[in-house]
Amino acid sequence: MGKSFNIGMKSIVLITVGIIALVVAFIFITENQIQVENGDITFDISPPIDNQPTMGEASAPVTIVEFGDYKCPACKSWNETVFPKIEEEYISSGKVKFSYINTLFHGEESALAAMASESVWNQDNDAFWDFHKEIFIHQPEAQRHDDVWVTPEKLIDIAVSVGNEIDLETLAEDMIKQTYKEDVLKDQELVEQYQVSLTPSIVINGTMVEDPFDYEHIVSLIEKELESN
Ligand code: CA
Repeated sequence: MGKSFNIGMKSIVLITVGIIALVVAFIFITENQIQVENGDITFDISPPIDNQPTMGEASAPVTIVEFGDYKCPACKSWNETVFPKIEEEYISSGKVKFSYINTLFHGEESALAAMASESVWNQDNDAFWDFHKEIFIHQPEAQRHDDVWVTPEKLIDIAVSVGNEIDLETLAEDMIKQTYKEDVLKDQELVEQYQVSLTPSIVINGTMVEDPFDYEHIVSLIEKELESN
């Protein structure tokens, strides 16, 4: 009797949890209508980019958002291979603006690099993009996921290599005091809202591409957006 009662309770709990999960998913879908096409996911509302590091003309008709992680090897690769092509072809010409949102899939080191980058963004917008690029350059090529390489000292070294727009004392203090912790937590809310499960995740005017390394497909989505805007 006792055993079947337990199983019964477990089933009720599981069913309740299942119903709650469905309701939450339904609310999200109805609020931000997700459509899936060929593996790409389209959201009704593009990820909001206010207070996010953004490059390019504010009036650019297409917005690309990267959900990235400074500790992720695929992000290093994407930022060194795909991004420069987008920058040269579309950002420089004012057709696309580009925002970066922190994703913390590799724990404390991801969070430290994210908070340092937010400090640099708040000090000097242009220096941010140099710092951002340099962090990926400094990511060891053959790292294992558990190899520690993001440290405050390393980030200060990277800031030195970027040049004198970054105040090193401010950066060091911001890392110790976690001045931009709230900004990074806000990024994590977006990570959850947009169901980011891989980094980098690339969103083009609300469409999250299945394969961020498929440059031809990225171009076709940008061109489609340019035609309709
Ligand atoms: Ca941010």
